Amino acid sequence: MTAAVRGEGGDRPLAGKVALVTGGSRGIGAAIALRLAADGAAVALTYRSRAEAAEQVVKEIEGAGGSAWAVPADSGDAEAVWSSVAGAVDRFGRLDILVNNAGVGVLGPFEQLSLEDIDRVLRTNVRAPFLAAQAAAAHLTEGGRIISIGSCMAERVAFPGGSLYATSKAALSGLTRTLARELGPRGITANLVTPGPIDTDMNPADGESAPLQAGLTALGAYGRAADVAATVAHLAGEGGRYITGASLAVDGGFAI
Ligand code: NDP
Repeated sequence: MTAAVRGEGGDRPLAGKVALVTGGSRGIGAAIALRLAADGAAVALTYRSRAEAAEQVVKEIEGAGGSAWAVPADSGDAEAVWSSVAGAVDRFGRLDILVNNAGVGVLGPFEQLSLEDIDRVLRTNVRAPFLAAQAAAAHLTEGGRIISIGSCMAERVAFPGGSLYATSKAALSGLTRTLARELGPRGITANLVTPGPIDTDMNPADGESAPLQAGLTALGAYGRAADVAATVAHLAGEGGRYITGASLAVDGGFAI
């Protein structure tokens, strides 16, 4: 088997690369930060308020011999988003991979959602990834990656109560496809990962609606944050070289 088929980086395919993962203190973002670091990337991870959790992820990465840095950056604050990108570049000298993961879910009947709910969700789930991608694009070079975490609720699945969340995540689909076209000529890819029910604080596998959600998947089970992280790592590495503008479901068959 040739090196290109095996993957060129051996056990640490992302060695020498720098990644920024938003919302890396818990759940899916923490799993992505840990996985990219295990694959050799230096990782900057943002968080909103849980500094201790973020520092724990940093400790875990450093304990395994990796490099990581936690930066407080509320996605609702444009200045904080810009300075997290600039900070990652200052800290590690370059940027190769942006993972737009931070997100919030506000569910409720369409007619009862407040202006405050709408602004908060759209700022965090849409404006922040947009601004982060703009800021990151100034630093990404050939082989750069923009990977956003959408949701199966954005594309083929709909539930009453999900209007705001689905609207916000659907925006990432449009952003991803367009970035793929605009940045493709520079050798930069943009992809979306759409998880189904994943066991995190946002959607715990022992929550009230968990049996219903698990029952709607083909595999009859919740996924783990590490399942999403594995797909992100694939896209970030050599396996993602010729994938762009794609939407990859990691949902146990939820959306089929
Ligand atoms: P969690 O609620 O478990 O974790 C959210 C993470 O995002 C935390 O690190 C949190 O930081 C950070 N965060 C939240 N709001 C902000 C903000 N305003 N600014 C900066 N960081 C913020 O969520 P999940 O891990 O479950 O979700 C991660 C992504 O995956 C989200 O985009 C979500 O929509 C998506 N997703 C999740 C699914 C699931 O079933 N879990 C299914 C489909 C999509 P802090 O720790 O400081 O609060």
